[in-house]
Amino acid sequence: MATFSLHDTQQDWPIPHAASRALYERARVVEAGGAQGEGRGYLPYPIYIDRAEGARMWDVDGNELIDCHAAFSSVLLGHNHPQVRDAAIETLRTRGAGFSAAHKPEVDLAYALREVVPSAEMAAFSCTGTEATYHAIRLARAVTGRNKILKFEGCYHGWHDAVAWSTHFAPDESAGPAASPTPIAASSGIAEGARDGVVIREYNDVAGLETAIRLHRDELAAVILEPIAINGGHVEPLPEFLAALRTLTEEAGIVLIFDEIITGFRVGLGGAQERYGVTPDLTTLGKAFANGLPLSAVVGKERFMSRMATTGDVLFSGTHCGNVVNVSAALATLDVLRTQPIHQHLQDLGVRLADGIRAAIAETGAKAQIHQIGSIWGLHFTDKPIRTFRDLPFDQDGGRKYAHWPVSYRRWMLTQGVYIHPAYMVRAYLTAAHTHADIDRIVAATREFLVDNREALSVEDAG
Ligand code: PMP
Repeated sequence: MATFSLHDTQQDWPIPHAASRALYERARVVEAGGAQGEGRGYLPYPIYIDRAEGARMWDVDGNELIDCHAAFSSVLLGHNHPQVRDAAIETLRTRGAGFSAAHKPEVDLAYALREVVPSAEMAAFSCTGTEATYHAIRLARAVTGRNKILKFEGCYHGWHDAVAWSTHFAPDESAGPAASPTPIAASSGIAEGARDGVVIREYNDVAGLETAIRLHRDELAAVILEPIAINGGHVEPLPEFLAALRTLTEEAGIVLIFDEIITGFRVGLGGAQERYGVTPDLTTLGKAFANGLPLSAVVGKERFMSRMATTGDVLFSGTHCGNVVNVSAALATLDVLRTQPIHQHLQDLGVRLADGIRAAIAETGAKAQIHQIGSIWGLHFTDKPIRTFRDLPFDQDGGRKYAHWPVSYRRWMLTQGVYIHPAYMVRAYLTAAHTHADIDRIVAATREFLVDNREALSVEDAG
């Protein structure tokens, strides 16, 4: 398998960095992996963030950065949004940090979800996205009495053994043919036998989906996907793909799970299911749910959800699930989203950014494309259409060339005061706190990058 590296370069970051570097020297002695989680511990050293407010972050060296990371998309209204912050502080002050016992705000939140998310007849709260997909899959196994799940190459659903397959990697021959990809383990140490529990197909491949369901009809408990393949390149679903997913799973009695941990609340109050008018059986929510505080949920149809403990037979537990502070933050977040024209603003910002970058691409003749869905955006350095994970500009040589343009772009943007988090592609998010002036700065900086690299980007097959 060709692995790629998150590690941008061995060069120093092109902004003042002495304090970040010094922290990393201390951290790598005592923090496993150097930092808390794969997405953060990038080399030569992480940029250590000191604080964040609105659309800005400040690092420990005092650099002020326009934030296009938005805490992996979990900050939607802007960092430290006053209404959400006040709700959390007020809860801490008047109720306490949490009681791991039933409380009223959790009832209110489940009702609020029912009003905004089409599939949400009932809800079960947890803390992280990974927990939510875990619960959704176990529930699907319980209601169908089957074992396997079908997931799509490039779609990410967290790190547990059932879903840590064929994500964040550069597919080569070992990934098998596009029509029936081989599952590629995302980690060492995955339980023996987990591979037998997963079937992989390509996102947007209707024929592949049909064959998989025909072949594994009586074994498949669930089909799980990001309805918009954000981790797989910010790719929107073909209408026929969504239609086939819904019809085929219904016919075969397979549970359809939309993982809306990124798209939920962000692409609209009702998520991608509302945007495309396709209602799954179960939905996982997280990230923006509490505007940065850790809260996730499985929501879905009553006939499935009623199997969850304590009234049902599917184990569902957790000391911190439905934590009262985080639930209060979610209620405040939903209140802001329901009462203020946040989504219109996010859409305006996204379109302004995409139009600006598209114009710069046309002006410079760069072989690049901008993907933008509301406040989610990504820049790919290829002009070939991208409709599934394998269309991304991978190289087959350990990911070096693949990493080259996103790395250069990210470094340049840093010098212009724009933070884009290291990843295997340029992936970015806007928040409601971004302004038109912020967008114009991002566009101008991007244009300058394209102009400066005009020759290489227009003649070279960047992908
Ligand atoms: N699903 C999707 C679509 C995600 O993007 C992520 C996180 N990147 C997860 C699930 C897992 O969420 P968490 O990191 O909160 O466990």
